[in-house]
Amino acid sequence: MSKNIAILPGDGIGVEIVAEACKLLDCLRDDFGLQVETDEALIGGSAYDATGTPLPDATLELCREADAILLGAVGGPKWEPLDYSVRPERGLLGLRAELDLFANLRPAILYPQLAEASSLKADIVAGLDILIVRELTGGIYFGQPRGVEELPDGQKRGYNTLVYSTAEIERIGRVAFETAQKRGKRLCSVDKANVLEVTELWRDVMTGLAGDYPDVELSHMYVDNAAMQLVRAPKQFDVMVTTNMFGDILSDCAAMLTGSIGMLPSASLNAENCGMYEPIHGSAPDIAGQGVANPLATLLSVAMMLRYSLGEAELAARIDRAVSAVLDQGLRTGDIMSDGMRQVGTAEMGDAVVAALRADAG
Ligand code: NAD
Repeated sequence: MSKNIAILPGDGIGVEIVAEACKLLDCLRDDFGLQVETDEALIGGSAYDATGTPLPDATLELCREADAILLGAVGGPKWEPLDYSVRPERGLLGLRAELDLFANLRPAILYPQLAEASSLKADIVAGLDILIVRELTGGIYFGQPRGVEELPDGQKRGYNTLVYSTAEIERIGRVAFETAQKRGKRLCSVDKANVLEVTELWRDVMTGLAGDYPDVELSHMYVDNAAMQLVRAPKQFDVMVTTNMFGDILSDCAAMLTGSIGMLPSASLNAENCGMYEPIHGSAPDIAGQGVANPLATLLSVAMMLRYSLGEAELAARIDRAVSAVLDQGLRTGDIMSDGMRQVGTAEMGDAVVAALRADAG
């Protein structure tokens, strides 16, 4: 049965990189029998310009009906003076909330060909392939009560609440265990159970779930140690699962191990495994419209979509191989350029991946 994909290019380089993803989807449809239909809709600043809101009802409706969503990026200086309620980023946050996309999957993959791009020594990061599962709709970013209050002595007091229910922990835990089953079958749950009661509960729930996934080896680590281990010996990890705030920090740290923002995809999933897939970078206004953006994070986001929402793991692996083959050929966009390589633009990189995919099919 054909699956529906909502395509949301967004703003800035979003339009350019998503065009390359559409070429890839066309190839998968024409040459590999992938049964998908795509519909495009507006989000972010371009949606605001056309409709007065960054998340038009038509876009939300399309996304609700879709099996998966592919997003480019939103935002740009043009919309920065706007009221916070209609800023492009509100469109993205609104979509995450409306679709209850509670599980954020952020891989940090370092292709061996790009090891020199990392700020860490090549032997520590070459071949790195870890995945951080971050809880995205709960925890301290959403907990009540929150605020800043005046005290009688004239001082102010600010407070936020770190809160998780068993159900919230269980659902992110299950995504993490199932993700680990599809990879190296090792899951590290990150908490601060020595200090925070709520993460003691987190640890208990994760331990309780482990019985349902006997093929996955579960370990626990305190967040401060996890931060240290990520920069000391990151290849010890396969899948990490953690709370919203810890995941926010650790996933950015892990992303930077790879040194190349233009290479990293992400997924945000809900309970039905409907997911939104997007590169981790933004709309890059400084290079938008020049045809020089790296489309590989977006193409790898398509691979994640195939793996996690469309049940097409084999096609996903083909995309991973095609990207690797193109890097082997020495093709590089500006952000990952190094001596002796050949610099190409967005479209040439996209075309090369499609050609490598076809070549791999024989
Ligand atoms: P950014 O990720 O857009 O850019 C940071 C730097 O990385 C820039 O120098 C840019 O040229 C470069 N870069 C990013 N993606 C690249 C790619 N694919 N190829 C080559 N170089 C690339 O972050 P920013 O400059 O802080 O933000 C710009 C806008 O994007 C802001 O409006 C911000 O709110 C928005 N933003 C959106 C998202 C999203 O849509 N998910 C995420 C982050 C930022």
